[in-house]
Amino acid sequence: MWNKVLYEVLADILNKRCKPTLTHCFLRLLQNKGKLRWLFTQNVDALERCVGINPSKLIECHGTFSTASCFKCKQEVSISLVRECVLKKQIPIHCPNCDSPLVKPDCVLFGEDLPAKYYQAAKKQIYDIDLLLVIGTSLSVKPVSNVLFIFQTSNILAILSISLLTPLKQYL
Ligand SMILES: [Zn+2]
Repeated sequence: MWNKVLYEVLADILNKRCKPTLTHCFLRLLQNKGKLRWLFTQNVDALERCVGINPSKLIECHGTFSTASCFKCKQEVSISLVRECVLKKQIPIHCPNCDSPLVKPDCVLFGEDLPAKYYQAAKKQIYDIDLLLVIGTSLSVKPVSNVLFIFQTSNILAILSISLLTPLKQYL
């Protein structure tokens, strides 16, 4: 059942078994120096938020574990309540609004559409960047793999992902 898997991952995050890496800190450094325009991430662990990336710059393409809602009625549910229930192992978590046992973190499950914020960002023609960094992804999952192509081709592209080099060889 998806509830069990989601709550196990959430418990890992809450128990701090997932920690920001030097790469997350590098992204925060870029932000501190005013050099971070957008940050698209496919991760749902919210580690970008943990290091203080401004949510307005953050496009969490597959959602996030930092907020939660009811799968049935879409009511937002306090992440503090979810955290408390997960740590006490009181799962599944019932919705305070409709009482269905379908409260889940706001990550995108298989078959669900991506968050509206992703489509809003992807529709914009983002030309005012000097450098595009692609870090740690194979960009093999659509539609997120299309993010590369919303940027003006004359922008400098730096690829920091070994697995990306093979499928993109035709574009280099
Ligand atoms: Zn509900």
